[in-house]
Amino acid sequence: MRSKIRLLAVSMLAIVAGSRPAAAAVQVVTTTADLGSLAQEIGGDRVTVTALAKGYQDPHFVDPKPSFILAVSRADLLIVIGRELEIGWLPPLISSSRNAKIQPGGKGYLDASMNVKILEIPTGQITRAMGDVHPQGNPHYWLDPENGKAVAKEIADKLSQLRPNDRAYFEQRLNDFVTRLSDAEKRWAAMMAPYKGTKVVTYHRSFPNFAERFGLEVIGYVEPRPGIPPSPQHTLDLINEMKKQNVKLVLVEPYFDLKTPNAIGRATGAEVLVMPPSVGGVKDVTDYFTLFDYDINLLIGALKKVGTATH
Ligand SMILES: [Zn+2]
Repeated sequence: MRSKIRLLAVSMLAIVAGSRPAAAAVQVVTTTADLGSLAQEIGGDRVTVTALAKGYQDPHFVDPKPSFILAVSRADLLIVIGRELEIGWLPPLISSSRNAKIQPGGKGYLDASMNVKILEIPTGQITRAMGDVHPQGNPHYWLDPENGKAVAKEIADKLSQLRPNDRAYFEQRLNDFVTRLSDAEKRWAAMMAPYKGTKVVTYHRSFPNFAERFGLEVIGYVEPRPGIPPSPQHTLDLINEMKKQNVKLVLVEPYFDLKTPNAIGRATGAEVLVMPPSVGGVKDVTDYFTLFDYDINLLIGALKKVGTATH
């Protein structure tokens, strides 16, 4: 009798609250914080998002913590960057999670790279001598906001498949996100316009999509080959090339050692900028929008200092 009353009380409460018992939030796990931000934008209060890699970590090399396995084992949806970015750490996590839903090809698995613009897809044969080249192209594609929109659309479609009753909610959030991002893109493009064609060097190949979208030209890398640490000969060649082409900016991801970039800066008079490629890379970058806000303001501050406006 007592339990019946309690049950009645609980259902009365639900009626009083005016809501049908809400379906449990979709448990979303993303490999990176950038995907986490996009999933949160689209999923709103219908999702709980856990991002595995922190933005200040090299996304190629992430130490899987026990909490990662737990998160993946409970996930309804796993969203990955793909193009082999996570190949060094994600496959064992997926298999040890024993979660059938989120296995590659499963209903709860989303490779976010399927409809984005991918650069640097290698042609011809790939050899070991080329370093850690990604055969499926450069996986750092999220640094073009147009690719961010494509990923957001994929996420909206996938969430709608998993929760058909919430389709209108996800689509409305997608439309709102795309509108806000388009407005921001116009602002960013206008800010970067005076510096179109500026030549830069980056540590790793993290910024090709960013450079293409915002009009920078990447003429070289601190790494001699992707994933290979700097070597004295390559550094010397790079310094000479930078002097020849009057390159005044070196962009370094937060997880790389600054010793070689600083030496290059001293030899060439270039500014060395620690530029986060991901949400959470520095404290002020809390979501997909502030990532571009931060990076573009950082660049413009440095470009004003070195005086390389091209128009
Ligand atoms: Zn990479």
